[in-house]
Amino acid sequence: MHEITAKGILSTQNGMNIYRGCTHGCIYCDARSTCYQMEHAFEDIEVKINAPELLEQALRKKRKKCMIGTGAMSDPYLHAEKELQLTRRCLELIDRYGFGLCIQTKSDRILRDLDLLTAINRKTKCVVQMTLTTYDENLCRILEPNVCTTARRLEVLNIFKEEGIPTIVWMTPILPFINDTEENIMGILQECRKAGVYGILTFGIGLTLRDGDRQYFYEKLDLHFPGMKERYIKQYGNAYELPVPNHAGLMELVRQECEKAGMEWRTDKLFAYMRQFEDKQNGEQITLFDF
Ligand code: SF4
Repeated sequence: MHEITAKGILSTQNGMNIYRGCTHGCIYCDARSTCYQMEHAFEDIEVKINAPELLEQALRKKRKKCMIGTGAMSDPYLHAEKELQLTRRCLELIDRYGFGLCIQTKSDRILRDLDLLTAINRKTKCVVQMTLTTYDENLCRILEPNVCTTARRLEVLNIFKEEGIPTIVWMTPILPFINDTEENIMGILQECRKAGVYGILTFGIGLTLRDGDRQYFYEKLDLHFPGMKERYIKQYGNAYELPVPNHAGLMELVRQECEKAGMEWRTDKLFAYMRQFEDKQNGEQITLFDF
């Protein structure tokens, strides 16, 4: 882990990454790709130590309130956050300045900040996004080895349900020949329904691989699924997009099950929801679009 003093923290889309790199070890992680030009080892986390100060400056300058996003490129609750508390300090600012929040994690460490997430959601809107890729706990320990498993993540989602905080599940990636079964998809969807999840993101059911990510993923396939790398190469060559063989059938299953359960499944609608700032002050909802 190493610290840097960053020059800025919010992207033009109001997203932020406090950390760079991640210690959760997901074997398919796109953030490892060389196109992101990381100049340090992926597990040697870069810590933007002045993130809260930069965020406060940015929030003060904004003429209107909006949703602030975090977690797209690095998990805001990776191991170091326990001590550093930079995510927590940023959430305090988002709460204090009356902005909305859209936060993505795989870790149950997010529960430490339940007080702030609830406070933000009371005033505006807080959307928590969690990834669930497999219903099989043993497989989960292989695919996402250094973070809590699906069963615990479902407990977390149920806690947010009790708190009235909306949740969205990223059911992605679905890996060809590994977790691309109807049984797996149904298992995840049924639990999401029980947990009152607002919607399910799938990105068409499959996996993407590019330089850097691909080598790491293949190394792990060789370790845990002998012969699988060769099967991937035969089926997909060097392709960026690897849709699972039955992606159309599984997508139809997702659509049907989500519609039955009242969960949103359309990607554009889900992103529109996450970008929509709501002002719940004065007991009414005023919806503003920041972009
Ligand atoms: S939690 Fe996200 S950023 Fe971290 S290793 Fe897994 S996929 Fe990558």
